[in-house]
Amino acid sequence: MGRAFVYVILGGGVAAGYAALEFSRRHVAPGELCIISEESVAPYERPALSKGYLLPENPARLPQFHTCVGANEERLTPKWYREKGIELILGTRVRSADLKKKELLTMAGETITYKYLIIATGARALKLEEFGVWGSEAENVCYLRDIADADRMVNVMQSCAGKSAVVIGGGYIGMECTAALVTNKIKVTMVFPEKHLMARLFTAKMAEFYENYYKERGVKFVKGNVLTSFENDPSGKVTAVILRDGTRIPTDMVVVGIGIRANTSLFDEGGAKLALEKGGIKVNGKMQTSDSSVYAVGDVAAFPVKLFGNDIRRLEHVDSARKTARHAVSAIMAPDETGDLDYLPFFYSRVFSLSWQFYGDNVGEVVHFGDFPNSQFGAYWVNEGRIIGAFLEGGAKEDYEAIAKVVKTRAKVSDVGELEKLGLEFAFRE
Ligand code: FAD
Repeated sequence: MGRAFVYVILGGGVAAGYAALEFSRRHVAPGELCIISEESVAPYERPALSKGYLLPENPARLPQFHTCVGANEERLTPKWYREKGIELILGTRVRSADLKKKELLTMAGETITYKYLIIATGARALKLEEFGVWGSEAENVCYLRDIADADRMVNVMQSCAGKSAVVIGGGYIGMECTAALVTNKIKVTMVFPEKHLMARLFTAKMAEFYENYYKERGVKFVKGNVLTSFENDPSGKVTAVILRDGTRIPTDMVVVGIGIRANTSLFDEGGAKLALEKGGIKVNGKMQTSDSSVYAVGDVAAFPVKLFGNDIRRLEHVDSARKTARHAVSAIMAPDETGDLDYLPFFYSRVFSLSWQFYGDNVGEVVHFGDFPNSQFGAYWVNEGRIIGAFLEGGAKEDYEAIAKVVKTRAKVSDVGELEKLGLEFAFRE
């Protein structure tokens, strides 16, 4: 049993949706392109899962947030794919690949061949078991990566209204899930090993602002600690978590957000071996892997970032998925007019009524600015006399555009004191 396509996108997440739109704009012929996805729905904007999807009132539901609405582009419903002659092979996991034969083998035993393959397998949530903690398959323990996880979390939350939850992990998934839980009237304790929230990005000063905001909404923090085991009732439900220092926290549900791992395993050995780096599939500036017919995009791709001197980075953010996907399609379909991707790393999050954006890299000296008590503040990262990163909470569209520009142009900073005084104004002067 087998099918043949010119272009195959392996994975049906954010990157797949944006790649499909780009293929269609470049007039892919009906029957030439397919998307193979383990998920049972057409590509959607994954960030919605920890935001609108978890709201107690008027929650976001498909088909509202199919790609590419997140970038204010067309919404690609299953009907759109049908009309374009793009085959959606859903609910189908690819089991193995043979790069020499240019074919993929599905769990159902079907062989799918390609001329060009785009790997868009994204990432999976890390499980507590990988850290030696057992029992996270209990019915009231939730992870959040796909729509099935989100449906499960909604059900568990509904059974816990007025009760309590423990959130394991202080990254953006932990923060966004906590905000959603609080909005659903659930009391939350956040547990994480770092000194403060979002330790990979926030400075202590920035984290203090968000922690205070959360505390005002009843959230408790247990920092510098990790979960070591669960207590369960006779039905298997978790009733408490036990931490490394012996602390016991009774709870009605647990949400775990402890990071992700890129889905590279199909391509790390044998006849499917590709060069890997930084936990991802290594690609060049055209998103092309060590096999010239194979491209990788989104969370699974490790690509050279021009702005950082072509340092190879794997970026786990939605904007990177959208842009790398489009770039790969352009490189495949219009190779002569496609140069190396010149990408400005960008990441955002929204919690409660707060919203921030971050551009670039958070290395070097940090210069905070703005009005912290009134939720309008930011920070620049200055490295070797130039702006290398910028963060802004509570900005307007033009404010975000301005900070993005100073990072993109690596604006020169001759006086850090002056930069601090000017704050956001600096970005508009450049
Ligand atoms: P994914 O969107 O993960 O898609 C991968 C697809 O591949 C999935 O459909 C998967 O089922 C499929 N797949 C994997 N292996 C196989 C296989 N063997 N066979 C078939 N199919 C396979 N980023 C931000 O910048 N801001 C945010 O606010 C934000 N919020 C987020 C909230 C949540 C809850 C999550 C989970 C992520 C969030 N992100 C956010 C990150 C963003 O969603 C990802 O960077 C983006 O989804 C990556 O796109 P992708 O296409 O590479 O991978």
